[in-house]
Amino acid sequence: MKITNGGTGSFSRRGALKTLGAGAALLGLGMISTRAWAADAPAGPTPAAPVPPAGPFTLPKLGYAFDALEPHIDARTMEIHYTKHHQAYVTNANKALADHPDLQKLTAAEILKSLATMPDKIRTTLRNNVGGHANHSFFWSVIGPKAGGAPTGELAAALAKSFGSFDQFKGQFTDAALKRFGSGWAWLSMKGGALTVHSTPNQDSPLSDGAAPVLGLDVWEHAYYLHYQNRRADYVAAFWNVVNWTQASANYAAALKA
Ligand code: MN
Repeated sequence: MKITNGGTGSFSRRGALKTLGAGAALLGLGMISTRAWAADAPAGPTPAAPVPPAGPFTLPKLGYAFDALEPHIDARTMEIHYTKHHQAYVTNANKALADHPDLQKLTAAEILKSLATMPDKIRTTLRNNVGGHANHSFFWSVIGPKAGGAPTGELAAALAKSFGSFDQFKGQFTDAALKRFGSGWAWLSMKGGALTVHSTPNQDSPLSDGAAPVLGLDVWEHAYYLHYQNRRADYVAAFWNVVNWTQASANYAAALKA
């Protein structure tokens, strides 16, 4: 498996743009610096030329080691999830776009927001695989080591206002994660100017429903089965120990401005 994005310094800004179209979603990972993000303006020292990606999408660099989320998410699950599952979404999205050079210019977010206008022949493939790429890129950024606890600042206040309390928000999110039948995702998103907890099946993205994700949790069995087997509830409970609230807060702030 080849990760074309190399180290942090050579992270492909184009790749980042292709992922979600929102800088905030990636900043928390240390995948790109704030300065690099702002570097449509003149860049500082030119980083090493990135290896040209084999297609429009590339696996983003993971901002932490596979074992960094132990014991909550085990290293083997992280490795397979990232190098096999996520890579497969990237590969299949690129394959689907191979004969559509015009669509290769679009970001993942642009594709997911306008699935209805995509060619019939590849629409479902894009929904599943561009969705899978965007969802996983997002997921890696909202979890991390030395994380968990509770949010602070504006997001904390907004959660309390929207859901009654942080614990009530957690309860609703957990419920959404547990009630999603089969494979899918639980989300905290901004939609219509309000925070909402919801879930999506398969790799459907909130972006396709006019929502902007703030926090997301992969509840496919591949995300937890090796360590938790059928115990999705234990996995969801453990998730709270690895939530990167700094990133979620940045996502919320970006959604407010959108
Ligand atoms: Mn997954």
